[in-house]
Amino acid sequence: MTQKHDNYINGAWVAGASYAANVNPSNLGDVIGEYTQADAAQLDAAVQAAQAAFPAWSTGNIQARADALDKIGTEILARREELGTLLAREEGKTKLEGIGEATRAGNIFKFFAGECLRLTGETVPSVRSGVGVEITREPLGVIGLITPWNFPIAIPAWKIAPALAYGNCVVLKPADLVPGCAWALAEIISRSGIPAGVFNLVMGRGSVIGDPLVNHPGVSAISFTGSQGVGARIAQQCALNLKKVQLEMGGKNPQVILDDADLAQAVELSVQSAFFSTGQRCTASSRLIVTDGIYPQFVAAMQARMATLKIGDALAAGIDIGPVSSLSQLQQDLDYVSIGQAEGARLLAGGERLQRDTEGFFMAPALLTDTTAAMRINREEVFGPVASIIRVKGYEEALAEANNTPFGLAAGIATTSLKYATHFKRHSQAGMVMVNLPTAGVDYHVPFGGRKGSSFGSREQGRYAQEFFTTVKTAYTFA
Ligand code: NAP
Repeated sequence: MTQKHDNYINGAWVAGASYAANVNPSNLGDVIGEYTQADAAQLDAAVQAAQAAFPAWSTGNIQARADALDKIGTEILARREELGTLLAREEGKTKLEGIGEATRAGNIFKFFAGECLRLTGETVPSVRSGVGVEITREPLGVIGLITPWNFPIAIPAWKIAPALAYGNCVVLKPADLVPGCAWALAEIISRSGIPAGVFNLVMGRGSVIGDPLVNHPGVSAISFTGSQGVGARIAQQCALNLKKVQLEMGGKNPQVILDDADLAQAVELSVQSAFFSTGQRCTASSRLIVTDGIYPQFVAAMQARMATLKIGDALAAGIDIGPVSSLSQLQQDLDYVSIGQAEGARLLAGGERLQRDTEGFFMAPALLTDTTAAMRINREEVFGPVASIIRVKGYEEALAEANNTPFGLAAGIATTSLKYATHFKRHSQAGMVMVNLPTAGVDYHVPFGGRKGSSFGSREQGRYAQEFFTTVKTAYTFA
């Protein structure tokens, strides 16, 4: 018998309409647990609980708020190994990567514990004599948080922590594929001293409880991370309901490699960005844009480095890359390799399903060469360990190719030239730009987000999170 896990609503654990198994993608025989599935009525109960909790929480003592967030962060950090292991087991990134993600989640709660005490306003002179003007930030109300499967603890953390820090109440709907980390986080929050109803966890399918959450009149705003298709639909619904919305979506991130790059560094950061975490990061580099002079050496060195990668059970020691998270994602990854080849790309390495001791969704990272910007493989997000190389003549063409995408999340350049690095940072049409660093891998205390089709609304994380999670009030006093 596997353990049953319930929703957390109004300070109590509540069973939903049914249960679904959470299965380890490294070992399909390993069931992590049964997780309940909410229906629309249960979602409504969660929103009502959050609405009822809002007046007291939003005006309550900020030291108590800070203490609760700090306690959550402290417990996550103390249990990072255990939580990272659970994460690796349910999502498929390696245990080391899982521990890293859990650490990030803990640090985020501690950062926003401090933010509870740092919210500031402005006092400005009025144009009218005897009048004073105060500009303050206030919470929005109940916020619906919808999260994807690829960062099952960090993304819930980077939405929950600022939402609560700035005085909002929350209903979290995590991805159906990976409810384990969200449940573990909810369990930690349930013992933090946060009053009943302030935080609610509602697990279940987006197709069942997504619309009821987004369209609920008691929900003031939606913060969503996931695919562009679902995000665009949510944006339409929020526009119709005049709700504030924040969307973080996909990427087709470029990694430029110039002739003057340090070859070993360029290869390492490209392999990391493209394939680590099984390529399942919105900031992964899926387009490697390489200038003529370094092209032959870079391609050869990539092939050699890829041959050394160890793919296997996410929990096993010495593994570089775990499994793809699900069968449907694996099929999508393999399909894109075929689509690329059909468009004329050459498969230089990988691209096939791998068998290991246990039945799982293992795939050899794929590298396609001879690709062009017009190919689907270079325009659509694959979201797996699949990268392509685009050969260009020089920096100007590399920059143009890097920006030649409907997405704009992250972009990187490998170069020893200060001139090109400086120009690229200014002219890249991405929200996050890296010089001689992987496109994936960012700090937790600074803004995160993109441009064009990758993001909509204000930035997440760091102090910039207050743009979304608060609203501005201007108060006038005549005295
Ligand atoms: P997804 O299919 O869009 O799902 C994201 C979330 O939306 C899940 O919780 C999902 O629930 C829910 N959902 C599905 N249909 C819904 C509906 N009709 N109404 C409301 N919610 C609904 O994305 P995913 O496959 O989980 O994640 C991968 C995507 O996330 C990639 O595109 C990746 O680039 C993006 N991502 C972006 C960032 C960023 O910060 N820019 C970070 C990480 C990931 P179910 O799980 O039940 O379907």
